[in-house]
Order: sequence, then C-alpha cells, then structure tokens
Amino acid sequence: MTEQSVTADVKPSNLNEKTAVDHLMALLAVEGLSGEEAEVSREIRKRLENIGCRPSWIRHDNAHKRIGMNYQVGNLIVRIPGKGSLRNQPRRMFSGHMDTVPLCRGAVPVIKGPRIVSSGRTALGGDNRTAVAAMVTLVETLLSDAQSRPPITLLFTVGEETGLNGAKEVRMQDLGNPAMGFNIDGGNPKFAIVGAIGADRWVAGVHGRSTHAGVYPQGGISATLIASRAISKVAEKGFFGKIDVDGQQGTSNIGMISGGEATNQVTDFVRVTGECRSHSKSFLKKITSEYRKAFEEAVAETPNNRGDKGRVEFDAERDYDAFKMSSRAEPVVIIKKAVKQMSGEAILLIADGGLDANYLNLKGLPTVTLGAGAHGAHTIDESVVIAEYLDACRLLPLLATC
Ligand SMILES: [Zn+2]
Repeated sequence: MTEQSVTADVKPSNLNEKTAVDHLMALLAVEGLSGEEAEVSREIRKRLENIGCRPSWIRHDNAHKRIGMNYQVGNLIVRIPGKGSLRNQPRRMFSGHMDTVPLCRGAVPVIKGPRIVSSGRTALGGDNRTAVAAMVTLVETLLSDAQSRPPITLLFTVGEETGLNGAKEVRMQDLGNPAMGFNIDGGNPKFAIVGAIGADRWVAGVHGRSTHAGVYPQGGISATLIASRAISKVAEKGFFGKIDVDGQQGTSNIGMISGGEATNQVTDFVRVTGECRSHSKSFLKKITSEYRKAFEEAVAETPNNRGDKGRVEFDAERDYDAFKMSSRAEPVVIIKKAVKQMSGEAILLIADGGLDANYLNLKGLPTVTLGAGAHGAHTIDESVVIAEYLDACRLLPLLATC
C-alpha cells in the first residue's frame, strides 16, 4: 500500500490498516458466484473465529431452502453480544452480500498504487467483498477494544446479484430483531443511500406456429417476427432504455432473447426477458404495461395466411418496491453523526439499482446503504480505492457505537 492512499483525518487508534487490507485481499481471491457461496462463507467464518468470534455466535440460516435453485448455503449470520454500558441498547445490524457476478470468475487481486485491481481480464469482486472485509475488520476492531457496544448482528447475504435473494428470504428473528441496519455496497463511504428505485422483471413467452420456411412460410406464424415487432413498438413510444415520457422517468431493458430450432423452420417459440425501473410506483406499472400491450398488439398484427394468430404469455413480477427513508430515521441520524466525526459530511442519495436494503426496509428494518471503496462494479475495469475502503473500516465502528 502506498502512503497517498491514507487520507482520513480521524483514526480510531486500533484500526490495523495492514490486517484490514489483508482481509480484503484474501476475500477477493475466493470465488463465490451467486448461489455458490459455501467457500467464501467458510473463509469468512475462519477469519471471524481467528479474531475472537465465538463459534456459537456464527450460523447459517436456511434461506437457501426457501430460495431453491440449488443454492449451496443460506445467509451467514453473526450475533455478537453487547458489552458495557451500551449492552442493553437496541441491536444494530451490518450487512453485505457475499456473492459476486460471473465476470469475477477466477479473479486474482493485485495492489496497484492506491487501488486494488484484477490482474487478468476479469472483474475484481470489490462488489461486494469490500463490504465483507470491512465487516470482518469491524468485528476485529470491536473485539480488540475495551469500549462498550450494543448487541451487533452481521448479515452476509447470498444471491444479491441475481435478485436480492438472500435479503428477500432472511427472517428478522434469525437476525435477533435488530432496530436498524447499515448495508455496505458501493464506493465512497460518505454517500448514504436512503432510498431506492423500484423494479419489475418480466418474461414474455411468444408462441407462433412452425411450418417449413421454404415450402410453406405463409402458413406459419413467426414468433421471432412477433417479438421484433413488439420490441420496436416499445422503442418507438419511448419506453425502451432511458425513459422520459410526459415528465416521468424510468428505464427498461431486454436482457435475453432465446428461441428457434432451425433456419428452415418458421420460429415456433421465443422467450424474451426484461426489466423496468422507476422511482414512481405508478410509472413503473405503466412501463411494464407498455411491454405487455406491445406484445399483445404484435401478436394481433402477425397472423398467417388463414388469419390464425399466435399468442403471448406475459408474466411480470415486482422485483422490489421503491422506498425513501426520512432524514430523521435513526440510521440516517447516526450516519450523519459518524461521518462528521471523521471530519466529513454525509451525502444522502437515492439509488437507481436494487440493493439488499430494499428488502430489509420492506421488512420494517430501517437500513441505510454506504460504500466501502468499490468502483466500476460488473466490469473488467473494476477496482477498489484503498483509502475509501480504510475510511469505511474506520467509519463502521463509529456506526456501531456512536
Ligand atoms: Zn453489490
């Protein structure tokens, strides 16, 4: 690590920067894609026990059984008892997701000046191993400190990247019913996310009719043509990509198209999957309904030579609802105070992406999200700004106790 990477003004005396970075480097080197978190959770548990966590404080919940999809393990939950004068205070929770995106497969982290980067052509996994390592470092700081603390829960979630699965399935009683949460996921720790966008996911199954494409195409109904027409309609009306219609904003995307069997066959079936997002609940509904309508219209406009039509099964589901916390909510007040103690000013933001905090808030646990130095998530240019990561490592003990 280079000298210029250390910038914070306030340093709780017991933050060991070297071990904080060691935790991060070790955790970045462990593969753990969504649903395959067994190995990284073992590494976390090993590190926690090495720094003084009692094995009885650490357990997995059985969220993986509720998620299905062959998830290896559930969320990893650590419950640390309070101590001293704060021991009967309401429980505070810290959370971060263990899984990384497929682009991180085989990542080898290296320190390059003030940053950690991936040495090959993979993403790094700073999203979200910075959170995991900062939480391990938090425990190390708390346990090596004579200072009082409230009861603390750590929640290491599974499957965040594929739909916030671990957070969706976690149960408050397994967490020890915390009063507030601090979710770690992102870059600069001063940016506190106090709200998030809402999102829908949908799947359109387009059924056509297969005939020989050379001999009798006019008798067929092309699912490919129906899907293409539907997508063009949505785009022409301004509901594809970045959306700004009648002063209302949102986004939408088609992520996958699959189907068809042979070039000489009119396509029988195409499956199209996509998502829509907006801060406005009613506009989100509108965007999703534009897709549904477009597929239905395209079906009607694409008959075969006898007037027969295909059909579409359009299934949309709410991925998560938009939310916004009050600036007087307890975790917001605490984060402002803690950042001030680090000679900074917390900046409150609304996120455009889904976060585990969306579900935690939905379950009634007021949760703010802050970063721990991860940048360029889900790209091969991903990096960790070491100074920001260390700032987060200094900030977390303040959030736990101030
Ligand atoms: Zn993340």
